[in-house]
This record gives sequence, C-alpha cells and structure tokens, in this order.
Amino acid sequence: MFQNLTDRLSRVVKTMRGQARLTEENTAEMLREVRLALLEADVALPVVKELITKIKEKALGEEVIGSLSPGQALVGVVQKELTAIMGDPTAGKLNLAAQPPAIILMAGLQGAGKTTSVGKLAKWLKDTQKKKVLTVSCDVYRPAAIAQLQMVSEQAGADFFPSTESQKPSEIARDALDWARRHYHDVLIVDTAGRLGIDEAMMQEIQSLHQLLNPVETLFVVDAMLGQDAVNTAKAFNDTLPLTGVVLTKLDGDARGGAALSVQQITGVPIKFAGVAEKLDGLEPFDAERMASRILGMGDILALVEQAQKNVDIEQAQKLADKVKKGGFDLNDFRMQISQMRQMGGLGNLIDKLPAQFAQAAAKQDMSVADKQVRRTQGIIDSMTPQERMKPELLKASRKRRIAAGAGVQVQEVNRVLAQFEQMQTMMKQFKGGKMARMLGGMAA
Ligand code: GDP
Repeated sequence: MFQNLTDRLSRVVKTMRGQARLTEENTAEMLREVRLALLEADVALPVVKELITKIKEKALGEEVIGSLSPGQALVGVVQKELTAIMGDPTAGKLNLAAQPPAIILMAGLQGAGKTTSVGKLAKWLKDTQKKKVLTVSCDVYRPAAIAQLQMVSEQAGADFFPSTESQKPSEIARDALDWARRHYHDVLIVDTAGRLGIDEAMMQEIQSLHQLLNPVETLFVVDAMLGQDAVNTAKAFNDTLPLTGVVLTKLDGDARGGAALSVQQITGVPIKFAGVAEKLDGLEPFDAERMASRILGMGDILALVEQAQKNVDIEQAQKLADKVKKGGFDLNDFRMQISQMRQMGGLGNLIDKLPAQFAQAAAKQDMSVADKQVRRTQGIIDSMTPQERMKPELLKASRKRRIAAGAGVQVQEVNRVLAQFEQMQTMMKQFKGGKMARMLGGMAA
C-alpha cells in the first residue's frame, strides 16, 4: 500500500540530508517531489494543491528552521498535514446514541465489499461494543446476496433477519425494524442492493429506504483500489443520500492511497472504518494519524538511519572491519557492538521506528525480554578477564563456572554467548571490505 508515495517521499528526505536548513530553492524541489508523489498515489488534484500550499507554509516556518534535521522536520510537517486532511473529529467513530435500535444503512456499488463489511461491522459491534446486533438484506436482485449476508452474520455471531427475493425492499426493512424493536436489539444493520455503476433506480430505492428508516448512520462502502473513482462515486451518492461516513475497503490490497487522502476533503464525509483484510475481523475504526504514519512508513526508517549515524562511529566500524579481516575480532569487539546497540536506545526503541508492517511482526516478540537478553550478554562478557576476551579458547569449564557466578547466570548462558560470538565471527569472515564495515556499523555506512 502507498509504496510509490512512500518511496518518493523518502527520496525527498534523502536529498535533503546534510542541508542545514530549508531554503526557497530546496523547498521548491522538495515540494515538486511531494506533489508528484501525491498525484501518483491518485490523490485528487484540488486536494494535492491544498496539501502543497499548507506544507509549503509550514515548512518555511520556524518548525523546520529550528529543527536539527530538515528531513525529519519535513516528514513531520507532511505527516501533520496528511493527518489533518483525513482526520475529521468523527472519523473512526459511530454514532450509536439513538433510541435503540440504532439503524445503520449501508450503501455502495456491487463488489465494493458491502455485505462483507456488514458482517465485519456486526462482529466489531458485538465483540468490542457489546451490542446486540440484527442484520437484514434488502438486496432482492442478486439471489446469492441474502444467503451471503446470512452466512457472514452467523460467522459474526449476530442475529439475522431472513428475507426473500419476492419481497419489496421497503417491506423487508419495515419488518426487520419491527423485529429489532420487539427483540431489544441495540443495532440494526441494513444491507442494500448495489449496481455496477450509479443507477437511477438504485438511487431512488435507497433514498426511499433512507426516508423510511431514518438511520442514524448511512455508511458508503467503497473499494479503496478504485482511487479517484472511489471518491467520485462517494460524491455522487452523497449528492442524493446524506452520508454520515465512509467505509474504505481493501486497504490491504495495492491501493494507491489516493482515496484515503481525498475522500473526506472532496465529499466532506469522514472515513469511519477501514477494511484491511477479507476475514471478518479485518475492519478497523479509521485512525487518521495511524494512516498518515503508514503512508509515511519510510520516514520512520529514515529517522532511524539518522539516529544510527549519530551514534555509531564510522571510523571505529572501519577499524573493526580491518581487525576482522586479519582474524582479530574478539569478545572485546563483540561487547562494543552490543553496547553500541544499547546506546541507540535498546531494541524496543528501534522497533518503534520501523514501518508498521515490520513493527507489527516485531511486536509479536517481547522486546523487553530481548533487551534483557542483550544486557545479560554484556554482563557475561564483563565478567571475563581482558585476556579471556581476547582469547575465548582459554575458556574451559572452571573459568566458565567462575564467569557464570560473576554474572549471576547458569553456565549454559555463558556457552550460549560463546556460541553466538563464534557464529558472528564466522559470518564476518564471509564479508569483505566495505560490506563488512557497513554491517559492523549497523546502518551507518
Ligand atoms: P458487495 O457486492 O459490495 O456486497 O461486496 P462483497 O461483500 O461481496 O465483497 C466483494 C469481495 O471483496 C469479496 O470477495 C470480499 O471478500 C472482498 N472484500 C471485502 N472487503 C475486503 C477487504 O477489506 N479486504 C480484502 N482483501 N477483500 C475484501
């Protein structure tokens, strides 16, 4: 998702590295790249213009000039503006305060993900909001539609109100509402028929359903992969139906991001939910800030690189590389590497700066445990004599016992560190010259 946008923006930041401040000149160049990045991501032109104007204003302001790194500050400005453009105060929030049942009417074109989203929403309401949910389908045109809704509703653990193709949509809606009232449902979600394109009959039908039901939420479900077309259909629907929110589906696909960035600005309708997987738990309340960070995932990596550059001495890394080449990499050097990593704020801090998809994978492992491990390794090496660190082959059983006692660990732990060290030594011997320096210096070179 958003790969082009991310790539371009990170390139912009790279070209700005090493420049002390933003000038009119380098800002113009950077804005051109940002503009191209947004257009490539299929963001609507008026939205691009507005974003660029705002970013320009802010970038030339004090926020950037006073900052240590213009590249980082720029990413910050862009991120803030991206968040603002998607972040209506009601984004990600449903209004369920109505007299129960709160009615949610779902609209959208065929294939947008409407029925799936009804199931996801029912599950979300049930699991996280503890609501009693009833679903109903008013799609009497597509034979499979009603059965599909029944299936996803059952999977979601929500109640389903049966309907048949021979009924009128308004009749179905009325009956379902009556049923929901009598059975004390908190929420009634009404699925409607979609068409392949905007169609007069469909619009009239959903309009009359809207009049009849007077829903507290009218959600427009749209496929994010359609880019600007998604925004245009949302606009067309909103002209005849007062939408209260958008559900942007298939954000897990290769959507270019334009829809997410333009839809609220163009239609005035906030994005309330994002579909991020086919499965029923693949729906998230829309979070503008998180989305902006995701779009700028690469920016975080750059911050990480800059931090690494600050903390790791390249010269030292080169010296170390020479040493390895001559076969002199010992436990002292190993210890230095570990402490350098700790200087960078520990593993948890590094993970925080990785783009979302890596961070999610990393989050599965407990970083505090990993950090503890690193500290323990350092403690074990500290318990060795300088001679032992230079010549690990001296470490026989009795010395290992002494070291283990000194570090307050079991002997197996000492063996583990030695095995790790050997592994690293072998690995390093396989590299040569610059490549090795790069590895030793982490991301510094
Ligand atoms: P409807 O015609 O609007 O009711 O669309 P459906 O609910 O039948 O969905 C159409 C297709 O899109 C189905 O294959 C869904 O599994 C898929 N789909 C819906 N939402 C998402 C999503 O957020 N991510 C992915 N990857 N697929 C989705």
